[in-house]
Amino acid sequence: MRKKPRVERCMRCSRRWRGADDWNSVWKSGVLTGLLCPDCQTPEENAEAEINAVGLDYDRMHKREDGHWYVPEKDVI
Ligand SMILES: [Zn+2]
Repeated sequence: MRKKPRVERCMRCSRRWRGADDWNSVWKSGVLTGLLCPDCQTPEENAEAEINAVGLDYDRMHKREDGHWYVPEKDVI
């Protein structure tokens, strides 16, 4: 089974992502819905990504069977 995930491109300019750290990932309810390259990010989006990242547990990030990346929310203690 070979499935190419669509999310590994910029949502706006379709540039391919090659593992760079400065790209923003866009999450909806813990599911990765898209990526934004540094050229396409607005400062607001950058700030929003930082805020969203606070509640997510990136140590437990994994690819689900449907091919979407998933990051669970941190367990609240
Ligand atoms: Zn872009």
